[in-house]
Amino acid sequence: MIADDQWRRRDLQVLWHPCTQMAEHPDPLPLLTIASGHGAYLVDHSGKRYLDAVSSWWVNLFGHAEPRIAEAVARQAKKLSQVILAGASHEPAVELAEQLLQLAPRDPDREPLAKVFYADNGSAGIEVALKMAFHWFRNRGDQLRTRFVSLHNGYHGETLGALAVGDVPLYRRVYAPLLAEPLFVRSPDAFGTDPKIASTMALDDLRRTLEQCGETVCAVILEPLVQCAGGMRMHSPDYLKGARALCDQYGVFLIADEIAVGFGRTGTLFACEQAAIQPDFLCLSKGLTGGTLPLAAVITTQSVYDGFLDRSRERAFLHSHSYTGNALACAAALQTLRILKDDAIIETNRERTQWLANAANTLDGHGIVCERRQTGMIVAFELSPDGTPNSEYADPARAGLRAYRYALEHGVLLRPLGNVLYWMPPYCVDQGDIEKLATVTQGAIAELAQHGEWPQ
Ligand SMILES: *Cc1c(COP(=O)(O)O)cnc(C)c1O
Repeated sequence: MIADDQWRRRDLQVLWHPCTQMAEHPDPLPLLTIASGHGAYLVDHSGKRYLDAVSSWWVNLFGHAEPRIAEAVARQAKKLSQVILAGASHEPAVELAEQLLQLAPRDPDREPLAKVFYADNGSAGIEVALKMAFHWFRNRGDQLRTRFVSLHNGYHGETLGALAVGDVPLYRRVYAPLLAEPLFVRSPDAFGTDPKIASTMALDDLRRTLEQCGETVCAVILEPLVQCAGGMRMHSPDYLKGARALCDQYGVFLIADEIAVGFGRTGTLFACEQAAIQPDFLCLSKGLTGGTLPLAAVITTQSVYDGFLDRSRERAFLHSHSYTGNALACAAALQTLRILKDDAIIETNRERTQWLANAANTLDGHGIVCERRQTGMIVAFELSPDGTPNSEYADPARAGLRAYRYALEHGVLLRPLGNVLYWMPPYCVDQGDIEKLATVTQGAIAELAQHGEWPQ
């Protein structure tokens, strides 16, 4: 107990936490002090265990302290941790690139994805894709293409370029004066409506936008199948098919941001597979290292790569990060790919997906759950005061915070996105864990239904 409090005090003396109004720490927003993690559980300094229902910000795939990844990283650390990747190479970077290209979504009628560029976090990966798309057109002498098309309610990270193409008001609004304006188009989000209709309407909007402004656009950027930070809003693969076709028709790139949905979250290794599409840029991070080390990969075609080949340095893609292609992170990623294969994760997750569905379907909504939705290993419960879908509803009373506190008290790290409760657990959860998750979520919903200060 004392150790727990001491750590909390020391932390609040010196740390500034991400995505946090620090005035709320430690009350009303609790601050966990985590001593260790094992499997799907985190353990704090008082010995209390928490089921990590959010995979520690969607990064963890196989549980905490996965021994095979720990070993792979330790082995690599004794050989080479980091080397400058400009002008030098190393085994894990090459092997990982080879394997990612083997696994990347493929459309037999297109030129395959053939080149991997590394960055060191998701937002940086998005910056890379945006800059490459823009620069490719420049290198061809096309000066007009200076804009991006992005989706309402999308999210692509927090650096200024990535934030610019995102549309989560809580993160974007205050920085708006600093941000390049993309062309926002309707989201295919199927919340409260028929997914086919939502997707058709969104495609009409994309078509209109490209018709009007197509020759000023370098790329369309989207999160395939699930807009995660935007409240785990889900859409039909039909939209991705249609968007791919429109991008081709208007000669613009398609950037698939699979930073959150990649590596099995949606039921396939990559979400694009479900629409049988291949993007021009595939952005990966989060689960890439099984949730152990920061790394991102941007994967593109030989033609994009060739567009930068020249004697002029300015035509080259001079983007870099000090830790680009860090060897420890690449080793962790290689081991992650090995585990995905050895443990047949995509196949064994099918049963887990069914357990999650069963647990979600048996929950009593207490009249405030207006929608429960699932795509693979992601389940979301959208709450509203009267249980009717209302996409404008914003949760000013912080019902989500109440649910968060309730779940922590009951040993589950459930971190709602506003009024959306969701499950996105590591792939090692068993039936017992899912029952616990369901029981605690049920309790949180009941608590909100009875005591939540819902605005009228
Ligand atoms: C998390 C996320 C990012 C940003 O990744 P960071 O590593 O947090 O910078 C980008 N896109 C999507 C879809 C994400 O979920």
